[in-house]
Amino acid sequence: MINKDLYLQLKNELESNKVELIAVSKRQPIEKLKQLYELGHRVFGENHAQAVKERNESLNSLQIDWHFIGHLQTNKIKYIAPFVSMIHSVDSFKLLTEINKYALKNDRTINCLLQMYIAEEESKFGLDFDEVLELLDSKEFNELENIQICGVMGMATYTENENQIRKEFKQLHNHFEKIKAKYFNQDQNFKEISMGMSGDYKIAVEEGSTMVRIGTMIFGERTY
Ligand SMILES: *Cc1c(COP(=O)(O)O)cnc(C)c1O
Repeated sequence: MINKDLYLQLKNELESNKVELIAVSKRQPIEKLKQLYELGHRVFGENHAQAVKERNESLNSLQIDWHFIGHLQTNKIKYIAPFVSMIHSVDSFKLLTEINKYALKNDRTINCLLQMYIAEEESKFGLDFDEVLELLDSKEFNELENIQICGVMGMATYTENENQIRKEFKQLHNHFEKIKAKYFNQDQNFKEISMGMSGDYKIAVEEGSTMVRIGTMIFGERTY
C-alpha cells in the first residue's frame, strides 16, 4: 500500500510552490501505481523503455502522462515515441535527432529536457553548459521540427552534504536562466527545471525546481 496521507501532504506542499510532481513508479508494483492513480494522480515517471511500453499497454484505459527519466539508448526510442509526454534525459545531440526522427514517424512532437551534468560524481549522465550551447547553436538543431525543448533536468550528488546539493541545484537554475535568455526568450515552452528526488526535493524546491521526480517517498523501496 502507498502512504496516502504522505502523498496528499506532499502534493499540497508542491502545489503551493507550483511544482509538478512526477511520481516515479519504476520497479514498483503496478498495484501501487493504480492506487496513486485512484487518488487522482496522472503523471508518472519511468526509466526503462520496454517496461514503460508494457505498462502503457496494460493500463491503456487510464489517462496517464508518462515521463521518461532514465538514460535512453537510441535503439529504445521506438518503444516510447508513440505515447511519451516528456523525455527528461536528453544527453546528446545524436539522441535528440533520433527522438526527432521517431516523433516524426509518429506524427507528433515530443517534449524534451536537456539533462545537465551538475554532480561531482563521475557516473552521472548529462551535458555540460558548453555542450548545451554547442547543441543549441548548431544548424542541425534548428532543423529538428518534431521535438520541443522545454527546459533542463539535473541530478545532484548523492550526499548528506546539503550545501553541496544546494550549490548544484543553484548551478542548474543558473544554467537554465542563461540558456533561456540566450535561446528561448520568446519561447513560453522553455520553462521547466526538473530537479529534486525523495532525498533532496525540499532543497530543489527552494532553489527553483518546477518538477520533482519522487519515487521511494511515495511508493516505498523499489523491488529488484
Ligand atoms: C529513480 C529516479 C528518481 C526517483 O528517486 P527516489 O529517490 O526514489 O525518489 C528520480 N530521478 C531519476 C532520474 C531516477 O532515476
